[in-house]
Amino acid sequence: MNRRALILDELGLSPVWVRKEILAELQAKPVEPAHVAVASNSPAPRPQGFSPVAVAAHQALAPLVSPAKFTPPPAQTLPANDPIEDERSLRIARMNWQELNAAVSTCTACPLCEARQKTGGQTVFGSGPMQANIMVIGEAPDADEETQQTPFLGDAGKLLNNMLATIGEDEQVYKTNILKCRPPNKRNPQAAEVLQCAPFLKRQIELIQPKTLLLTGRFAMKTLLESDEPVSVLREKLQQYKQIPLVVSYNPSYLLRNLPDKSRAWHDILRLKAALKNSRH
Ligand code: SF4
Repeated sequence: MNRRALILDELGLSPVWVRKEILAELQAKPVEPAHVAVASNSPAPRPQGFSPVAVAAHQALAPLVSPAKFTPPPAQTLPANDPIEDERSLRIARMNWQELNAAVSTCTACPLCEARQKTGGQTVFGSGPMQANIMVIGEAPDADEETQQTPFLGDAGKLLNNMLATIGEDEQVYKTNILKCRPPNKRNPQAAEVLQCAPFLKRQIELIQPKTLLLTGRFAMKTLLESDEPVSVLREKLQQYKQIPLVVSYNPSYLLRNLPDKSRAWHDILRLKAALKNSRH
């Protein structure tokens, strides 16, 4: 009997048929103590419904097989960026919605507050219903979004809305960004800014408890998944953040400039729809 047959037997996928002469040879061989996983004087349990040859083979070989059953590998879950290390983060993690909103609007934790105060700008907390099926997370507000205190406006926002409308999910959507203040000159978020602002986003997620998360763009992804993999890799599988199904996709602004990736983003939206459907069962 080969190893494959033994494993199949342990998984309950037998009966295992053994040629009589091989069986006799196996039964004649003493079992090496070093190979016995669990010492026992009692005979191996007798499997039901098998031929006498298969039963004898099972009894002869049972001591060679570890009693541990096969355990499937866990679903891919990337680590949440979550030891809350400092006092400020702990305080934010205990805030209710109103306190959180107020804390964001007066925040001076990173240098972006200076630009905000100089230009008379304002923070963009987020928009949408608290009872959200989907929480969309982008990178940072642009000038229009800052003025209207609403994320995902303009052509990029329309594109996102249209994509969500095609799966019938454009109503129960809460939208926000990693950064609540606008970086100057449309530049990318910087690591120190993301680090200071991330506790606000994490508390928003905890308070809203959306059924699914849609992360658009690499900065959103890096913050919650702590991964340096590109969007093109992480978007291929359903991810998780604290048990919430999470879909990674391209930033809608990027899609406006890179039409070929639109069809890929469409697949991401379909993945989101499937995750949402599963969460309702
Ligand atoms: Fe505070 Fe975030 Fe604005 Fe920085 S970007 S000042 S951390 S609210």
